[in-house]
Amino acid sequence: MKGLTITKTDTLKKCPEDSALNFGVDFTDYIFNMDYNPDKGWHNPRIEPYAPHVMDPATMVLHYGQAVFEGLKAYKTSSGKIQLFRPNKNFERLNRSCRLLCIPEIDEHFSLEALKELIALEKRWVPGASGTSLYIRPTIIATDPFLGVRASSTYRFFIILSPVGAYYPEGFNPIKIWVTKNHVRAVRGGIGEAKTPGNYAASLYAGEQAHKEGYTQVLWLDGVEQRYVEEVGSMNIFFVIDDKLITPELNGSILPGITRDSVIALAKHWNLSVTERKISIDEVIDAQKQGKKMEIFGTGTAAVVSPVGLIRYQKQEYLINDGKVGALTQKLYDALTAIQYGNASDPLNWIVPV
Ligand SMILES: *Cc1c(COP(=O)(O)O)cnc(C)c1O
Repeated sequence: MKGLTITKTDTLKKCPEDSALNFGVDFTDYIFNMDYNPDKGWHNPRIEPYAPHVMDPATMVLHYGQAVFEGLKAYKTSSGKIQLFRPNKNFERLNRSCRLLCIPEIDEHFSLEALKELIALEKRWVPGASGTSLYIRPTIIATDPFLGVRASSTYRFFIILSPVGAYYPEGFNPIKIWVTKNHVRAVRGGIGEAKTPGNYAASLYAGEQAHKEGYTQVLWLDGVEQRYVEEVGSMNIFFVIDDKLITPELNGSILPGITRDSVIALAKHWNLSVTERKISIDEVIDAQKQGKKMEIFGTGTAAVVSPVGLIRYQKQEYLINDGKVGALTQKLYDALTAIQYGNASDPLNWIVPV
């Protein structure tokens, strides 16, 4: 590939067994790095042995959080091919996040080609057991060593790879969620729609509270009125009420998930009713109280689809769909994972071979 240099090493790590895989603990032998400065723009794209970033303690990202990232996966098919799911969407979103964080945009096409080279070099790290995959983390950080508050003038773009285990090793189990009115993740006019570390930092406190109370995730309401549902944990959220699929419309404080977009597209492809609109927590609770048929699930690259079996709102717990996985939730999970692992045809042209 033009411009990309590759430096190899002979000291390779031992890949963990598929059965011993966790999330985000093992990293492969190589990293992709590229730098930015105002004179050269993005330059020196290279694949080299995985190593720590050495940086000055004053490096801007450490102090002011100017950074953006992505998360996607490479899947191994039953015939041993390696493939990506809509990776162009991740690079497109990375650039959208860059614009909000005042980071210079990258060349999306070049970056995807570099990622493919990196994965091809790291083939042996893509696990093959059911539900496992190679998680991909592209990240851009501000690198000026400076304590003044402004956008950095230099940046590092890097991509690391991590083999990950099945998200549901013990089966597809509904989670318990906690609705909070005391904390918000993002507000209108903020950076909620960017994939940036600050949004995660902002979510930790409420997440810890939820865990202490015995819930898996927080259901986030909007930051202005604390009335409308936005996301669940670090996933987008869907409701099935009387067989109609509803998800909060993108409003600037919701992260535009690629899994979210894929669920909407697939449901439309199946001629189901799908609506993107505001949905208040009161509407959800009322529907539940009226005994309407309901399913709730979160969507994101890590879990794909995560069924919600119980919600706690204002001291009251509500069992959703008797705490069981809903039929449409299961169908969407099965369909998406079948496409990702090459076990089904790809009706919407989402798969990109490595
Ligand atoms: C990444 C992310 C999602 C899910 O996006 P996918 O593209 O589906 O993985 C949802 N919410 C937040 C806050 C996120 O950071």
